[in-house]
Amino acid sequence: MHNFQAQDHFSDGAQYIAGRLTKGTSGTHHAVVDPATGNEVYSYELAGSDDVDAAVAAAAEAFPGWARATPGERSDALHRFAGVLADRAEEFAQAESLQCGKPIKLSREFDVPGTVDNAAFFAGAARHLQGQSAGEYTGDHTSYVRREPIGVVGSIAPWNYPLQMAAWKVLPAIAAGNTIVLKPAELTPFTSLLFAQAATEAGIPDGVVNIVTGAGKEAGERLVGHPDVAMTSFTGSTGVGKRVAEIATATVKRLHLELGGKAPFVVFDDADLDAAVHGAVAGALINSGQDCTAATRAYVQRPLYDAFVAGVADLMESVRLGDPFDPSTDMGPLISHVHRDRVAGFVDRARSYARVVTGGEALQHPGAFYKPTLIADAAQDSEVVQSEIFGPVLVVLPFDSDDEGIRLANDTPYGLAASAWSRDVFRANRATREIKAGCVWVNDHIPILSEMPHGGYKASGYGKDMSAYSFEEYTQVKHVMFDNTAVVRKDWHRTIFGDR
Ligand code: NAD
Repeated sequence: MHNFQAQDHFSDGAQYIAGRLTKGTSGTHHAVVDPATGNEVYSYELAGSDDVDAAVAAAAEAFPGWARATPGERSDALHRFAGVLADRAEEFAQAESLQCGKPIKLSREFDVPGTVDNAAFFAGAARHLQGQSAGEYTGDHTSYVRREPIGVVGSIAPWNYPLQMAAWKVLPAIAAGNTIVLKPAELTPFTSLLFAQAATEAGIPDGVVNIVTGAGKEAGERLVGHPDVAMTSFTGSTGVGKRVAEIATATVKRLHLELGGKAPFVVFDDADLDAAVHGAVAGALINSGQDCTAATRAYVQRPLYDAFVAGVADLMESVRLGDPFDPSTDMGPLISHVHRDRVAGFVDRARSYARVVTGGEALQHPGAFYKPTLIADAAQDSEVVQSEIFGPVLVVLPFDSDDEGIRLANDTPYGLAASAWSRDVFRANRATREIKAGCVWVNDHIPILSEMPHGGYKASGYGKDMSAYSFEEYTQVKHVMFDNTAVVRKDWHRTIFGDR
């Protein structure tokens, strides 16, 4: 059982503007439903355009002071922030599991510690923002480069990892001296709100971190199109990302897009079969498969193919579905009944052209549970191989030559993550070089870390979350040039004045 009562925490509303919870003013209410039971656990008024405007105004007002704070001051605040998050870890884990239906062991061991570590990482990184070295490149001038924050950042996040997405958006932005308005998905507001409250508790000034919880069409589009927002950072589906890009481009905003994925999992015939089977099941089922980097397409070299299919099916059947708050539960429900039905639709359509080896059905249960599913014999150009399903569904296909395995791995519009399984260092190294994805694991699939960048190739977007690389998104560089000569008539004036 959990003891997170959302109403006790958010009785003042689900918007966090200038350091205070407020109610939305859109006129539309939204019910947060526990996907494991189907029960409503909180209801709130969504943010409308006026709420977005108020949040952007608060962020714009806070910007000059926060941008002027020294790196050391911002670092101190982020260290305190990491401390508050660590102190409240269990509360965050319960809120995350309640709104997402994710197993409490996943929230406790992955989402929350990952977020604390991210805060600690950016506390350190805040002191390492550098421009290039200065120098006299013309001989008559000194040039140097200043690295500066962008201004108010408008961020939009999905529902699959609400806490980590809030952290990935907020931490690099504010470490670099920006202020931010974050719109979480309307299904999952709790941990973004707790995160913003923790920032305030840590002494981060009011207005630096603001949350607007509203619908994509209204609050989301207003945030992306707002004239006082200097940058949009979006994580979500490729379809919505294209719409966001159109709006952001019309207002000439800097844009960072973390979009969908369809990660390949390539098993060469010298791989450790048992390791690959375990890696595939864990990599496909983490967070009920609602993970943009989840293993979704296993390509297995012919000699291992039958044993891999049998091993994965057996292991999937041993996965325990159930109450997310039972520490022994391996897999929770999907985020909603609507999403479960969408996942079921992919599998049901696949029955006409492929073989459902195991799973392929919802649990008879009031929650939005769907069984771990393995699909074989689908063609490379079929829907289940090409489209992002975002559920506990792994598709497995055979390949013959190494060239073919790598070609098939690259043959979708996406390029977020991939893995290669082999004990041959040359083969594995070639795969890491030739697979087009923002991350390629060797003999593992899923781990992420604060020091390393996360971001896509191709239709999975551009720009990086986490690591010092994220500062490339959240800062701009300014060239400053000093004349060193004090000469009135500079040599280059000849281009204007001729010989006068
Ligand atoms: P989604 O695209 O439906 O929604 C994402 C966010 O965009 C939500 O906050 C939503 O309210 C908002 N939104 C919807 N329409 C909008 C509009 N017209 N204008 C502005 N904002 C709008 O995605 P989702 O279903 O919440 O999340 C799943 C998707 O997120 C998957 O495609 C997954 O791969 C992707 N994802 C990617 C990464 C990554 O790092 N690349 C990480 C997590 C999730």
